Amino acid sequence: MKVLKDRNLRLAIQKQGRLTDETLDFLRKSGLEFESGRFKLFSSCRNFPLEIVYVRDDDILEFVASGIVDLGIIGQNLLYEQKAKVKKLLNLRYGFCSLIIAIPKESNIKSVEDLNGKKIATTYPVSTKAFFKKLNIKVRLVQIAGSLEIAPALGVASAVADLTSTGSTLALNDLRILTKIYDSEAVLIANLEAVKNGKKILVDKLITRFKGVLSAKNYKYIMMNAPNKLIAKIKKVIPGLKSPTISPLAKAGWVSISSVVKEDIFWETIEKLKKSGASGILVLPIENG
Ligand code: ATP
Ligand code: MG
Repeated sequence: MKVLKDRNLRLAIQKQGRLTDETLDFLRKSGLEFESGRFKLFSSCRNFPLEIVYVRDDDILEFVASGIVDLGIIGQNLLYEQKAKVKKLLNLRYGFCSLIIAIPKESNIKSVEDLNGKKIATTYPVSTKAFFKKLNIKVRLVQIAGSLEIAPALGVASAVADLTSTGSTLALNDLRILTKIYDSEAVLIANLEAVKNGKKILVDKLITRFKGVLSAKNYKYIMMNAPNKLIAKIKKVIPGLKSPTISPLAKAGWVSISSVVKEDIFWETIEKLKKSGASGILVLPIENG
């Protein structure tokens, strides 16, 4: 049997589930090279002292807290639900979902207050209980392990507190969202010792890589053509992370302008550029690594 190298960092990720593909993608974008496959229990990285361990997401918090692994990637929702002694290091900007309260479409419940005295089915009892307690609303929780959507139809509960990302499963089951408890995304967590002792240097190196992927994600590269006389105007529109690169085109009196633009003000910038007279605007993602 293969055993894990002890001095290497260990990172636990979900073996098979909603976070798996995006997590593998994220790790590869951060430049880590490894083989993965459905039947692998762990992968050793070729170019970083890291072992990626594949487990059920329910086990990750405990593995990290107890030091069986140094790091883990889980949905923040699990951190809210199970209080564990781990340190959250980074929000990873994928795996977005929300814990919401949903009711049957034709339910006569109008507000959260109307749930007073009612039964709520959930897989997230701690978060749900805390939510209602804060509002001073008394509900009875029915804990169900999966397929919560069926609970109202079965008459088991008047509402469900469930995770959703697009709401499509809810709609498919004739449920509608009454309110949101919290938003969640994938997060990197660490064992409390791992971020202090000899492994800290490696953890920091890995975080630097992850941050690189995260910042590249927030920017886009744009290229456009414009006549010389518009350069000054266009420069004003591009909020300067980097001053734009300007190079002459074969067409006399025209230039090609390229720059990096922050994603949150991106569409606004494009609109302004069009109005300033730029043409042939090309948008490229910034790849990391
Ligand atoms: P496992 O077999 O590993 O125990 P699971 O069935 O408990 O898997 P998944 O349903 O794969 O877990 O969800 C893993 C995580 O994905 C959730 O904890 C949550 O953070 C995130 N997630 C993103 N979108 C959704 C969604 N629509 N519904 C549920 N979870 C979501
Ligand atoms: Mg699970």
